[in-house]
Amino acid sequence: MNYFPIFIDIAKKPCLVVGGGDIAFRKIKLLLKANAQIICVAPKFCVGILELSECKKITLLAKDFAPSDIQKQVLIISATNDSALNSKVSELAKCANIAVNVVDSPDLCSFVMPSIVDRSPIVIAISSAGKAPVLARLIRAKLESTIPNAYGKLATLAGNFRAQVKAKFSNIEDRRYFWERAFSGVVAEKVFAGKIDEAQADLQAQLDSSTDSDIGEVYLVGGGPGDPDLLTFKALRLMQQADVILYDRLVSTEVMELVRRDAELIYVGKERDNHSVPQDGINQLLVDLAKQGRRVCRLKGGDPFIFGRGGEEIETLAENNIPFQVVPGITAASGCSTYSGIPLTHRDYSQSCRFVTGHLKDGSMNLPWSELAAPQQTIVFYMALNGAKYLSEQLIAYGMRADMPVALVEKGTTKDHKVHTTTLLELPNLVANETIHAPTLIIVGEVVKLREKLNWFENKK
Ligand code: SAH
Repeated sequence: MNYFPIFIDIAKKPCLVVGGGDIAFRKIKLLLKANAQIICVAPKFCVGILELSECKKITLLAKDFAPSDIQKQVLIISATNDSALNSKVSELAKCANIAVNVVDSPDLCSFVMPSIVDRSPIVIAISSAGKAPVLARLIRAKLESTIPNAYGKLATLAGNFRAQVKAKFSNIEDRRYFWERAFSGVVAEKVFAGKIDEAQADLQAQLDSSTDSDIGEVYLVGGGPGDPDLLTFKALRLMQQADVILYDRLVSTEVMELVRRDAELIYVGKERDNHSVPQDGINQLLVDLAKQGRRVCRLKGGDPFIFGRGGEEIETLAENNIPFQVVPGITAASGCSTYSGIPLTHRDYSQSCRFVTGHLKDGSMNLPWSELAAPQQTIVFYMALNGAKYLSEQLIAYGMRADMPVALVEKGTTKDHKVHTTTLLELPNLVANETIHAPTLIIVGEVVKLREKLNWFENKK
């Protein structure tokens, strides 16, 4: 960190601005937002500064700067176009141990002015340590567009309840839980909708009815196929809210890096036929953890309701009256095909798409082969690496062209994303002769050949 970020109270405190042009004017307006007592010194002033002085918001000294202008100010801003003068102001201020900022001259500054997102009382300051102010401003614009204006009102409301909440919950964890629920639930929604009185009543009701031993909640979250940029906002929010994360092999390391830093992580495994924690054990663990009052995130690869056994997990929760939420994720079929330049449907080649499990059970798959072999569709096989030979034989036996294009996608959407293309007939040879890393998805259909034109992701790498 080049600079240490702090927020200082400058209300009614003397601040000196040297310079009377437009840039000085902009800085003065900012300082006024924090109610500073401003003295501005310059031989001439722009219209904006003169108007502020007429409204008695600032004091003007219409003269050249002199060292004696530096008194006991809390901070000084030099915004002149005279670099010798700027250097002198900086030197004198530093000698007097007063924080100084010289506009556009980081070397002369003892503090820098950040880009600001103002949702008072929430204020976000962004600094690039003077290295890339434009980038800092772009980041600011992003934040401006994603943080509702009403967050300021929410913070004010929270401020009014702070003492009461502190008195009610002696434990810091309980207080955090109370606030997180308030900020992510109905209270926040009402503030955003402008219904402050209702929000206040709800918050009071929540406070009156809460006890220290509240039951927890389970979030069944789809973590997508690997690329963390494919997470939904909701997934990310709940991952960062949960106290415990239960995850398995399909959740990528990059996605795991985004969970709350101090959350407890429990690996529940699931390698093929080698479950670290059997499914019943996972279901029960979710119930037990929630009963301890914890917020549990069951993070799964892809979508929890597509070959994810998510249904079974929440069935147990429902039977035990544990509150839960389910967050869909981008399923492997969607992520892998898109990142491989293979549209799953296409007006000319494929009017439907089927997701099927290729898991071999007792050496075979119980699938409607004649339907799957029909033309003008795309078949996506999950968990089919070991069954590749079997599915190739079945589809050909039921009439699918032996030269039907097939793509095998390894670790789709991750930095190790790899695609092998072949034909249905050659698929077993490919799997036998190449080292292929799980997880792998098999896509069968005419659409696979569109990849030659549409492969944007690997070309970009
Ligand atoms: N719920 C998950 C699927 C779980 S089944 C989802 O919606 O994606 C596990 C199978 O998904 C794997 O055997 C593999 O076929 C597929 N899979 C999951 N992630 C994958 C990835 N990143 N690349 C390729 N295949 C993947």
